[in-house]
Amino acid sequence: EVIEREIEGMLGLRERREKDSDLYKIANEVFDRTTKETLAYLHRRGKIEALYGVISTGKEANVFAGVDAEGNRIAVKIYRTYTTEFRRIWEYLAADPRVGYLPKDMRKLVFVWTRREFKNLQRAIKYAVRVPEPVIFRNNVLVMEFIGDELPAPRIKDVERSLEPSDFEELYDFTMGVIERLWKRGDMVHGDLSEYNILLHEGPVVIDWSQATVKRNRMSVELLRRDLRNVINYFGRKGVDVDDFDDKFRELVGV
Ligand code: ATP
Ligand code: MN
Repeated sequence: EVIEREIEGMLGLRERREKDSDLYKIANEVFDRTTKETLAYLHRRGKIEALYGVISTGKEANVFAGVDAEGNRIAVKIYRTYTTEFRRIWEYLAADPRVGYLPKDMRKLVFVWTRREFKNLQRAIKYAVRVPEPVIFRNNVLVMEFIGDELPAPRIKDVERSLEPSDFEELYDFTMGVIERLWKRGDMVHGDLSEYNILLHEGPVVIDWSQATVKRNRMSVELLRRDLRNVINYFGRKGVDVDDFDDKFRELVGV
């Protein structure tokens, strides 16, 4: 079939031996018909010339390294259209005042989830938070700027053993600055801000905006509390002279 061949071309699978690659195995396991059609569409539009590596496999999404038709490196986050996280996704979306109609069908719900992450990236940029530049989304596929050189940039967690106390201090200030700027100026909260979702590439870059939302969301204060707690606990353990949780929380929420 045409689409199958197009996908194989994108994955560089013209040679048979490459069918043993991780890339092929994961693609084969998670690319359903919709995903293949979506990738083929993005391919025809020059947004994805090729996918050449698996950066990460998760419960909800897989992230691939790729290149667009102009030779720019891209990261492609592909949400699973079948996910055990359906309930959580539904609850998060239902609480977001920006999201109108909620599809009953899981596949379409995941499309809404993908679009929301794209919008969150755009919104975060507006408030001067360094994130991967969003390029395009369609259905369950999100294309964004690749953060890294040859290899994807490491997360704070990956390199924490080689960081100095002063690095942790700077990263703490950065992260707390992001929380405050998003909340105060952007009316927004990331919701999963941690050493796992900050990449280090010529400075810190915040990723994974799928659960981010706006202040008007009834869950936003809870998400803010979670971010503050995680960040204060982590950097506190690393020896940083961190803020007091209650003080910070009160300062931001005003109670
Ligand atoms: P979930 O937290 O729901 O499982 P996830 O963690 O799988 O989502 P992300 O955190 O967005 O999804 O991405 C997974 C990993 O892929 C990241 O930890 C990071 O290593 C890598 N990654 C994500 N986006 C980029 C990017 N733009 N450039 C380079 N690497 C990236
Ligand atoms: Mn993540």
